[in-house]
Amino acid sequence: MFEDKLNHASLLDGGLLSGARMQRFLHNDVASLELKLAKAKSGNKLIAIDGVFSMDGDTAPLDELSSCAQKHKAWLMVDDAHGFGVLGKNGGGSSEYFGLDQQQLPILMATFGKGLGTFGAFVAGSNALIETLIQFSRSYIYTTAMPPSIAASTRAGLRLLQTESWRRQHLAELISYFTHEAGLLNLPLMKSNTAIQPLLIGDTDAALALSQALEANGFWVSAIRPPTVPAGSARLRITLSAAHSKEQVERLLQTLAKLML
Ligand SMILES: *Cc1c(COP(=O)(O)O)cnc(C)c1O
Repeated sequence: MFEDKLNHASLLDGGLLSGARMQRFLHNDVASLELKLAKAKSGNKLIAIDGVFSMDGDTAPLDELSSCAQKHKAWLMVDDAHGFGVLGKNGGGSSEYFGLDQQQLPILMATFGKGLGTFGAFVAGSNALIETLIQFSRSYIYTTAMPPSIAASTRAGLRLLQTESWRRQHLAELISYFTHEAGLLNLPLMKSNTAIQPLLIGDTDAALALSQALEANGFWVSAIRPPTVPAGSARLRITLSAAHSKEQVERLLQTLAKLML
């Protein structure tokens, strides 16, 4: 198994649970992955990666990763928890954004707990893959099935996804407004054009203090700190959503400027 250094904890734990030999490559570095793939002796290779990195907000170069996977006869699997429902013209997520078909992206999974606002997850792939998971995936077989009420809520969310594209447009506008204005204010933005917009603070106590000061001003922005992220890279994780208004984002920017500058 080949995993990006910054993969979500669930991908790392899943890799350990699989019993496969795990190798981690440098974040979003296809050359680093390629080097490891070229040295791998096993015939069965799986590359697993986040579509949108949950603590950084940047996206994986899935087009390049897909070519690399095909060249080395490896499977590519994407965890699109933060892409599904948001990225792509129809909210189909990272695979739609990059225009990848099933051959180019054989294993796509995403959760319903982020963009869709419900609970649970899905895996999409070939019939052989899905049948294998149903028959052999112990963590799936021995977990209580999703309650029908949750499935119904998820279906309602999927219908909104298909019929109310203005939500995605509004979110895209908030993201570009936020990044543009934060850039003008010289706030320590990280390289992200998704709804996850972290501000790099560095010091853990400073990040916590800022998060508390924001809360006192009516904003819920969590401080992400080690060990969730590398030492010295504590950050404020701002997550924009379609439910926010431009005025709220404007006030957030003013408050950040007041507290940080
Ligand atoms: C939140 C998240 C998960 C876990 O999803 P749950 O629905 O809470 O199990 C998995 N992967 C990524 C990348 C996530 O952000």
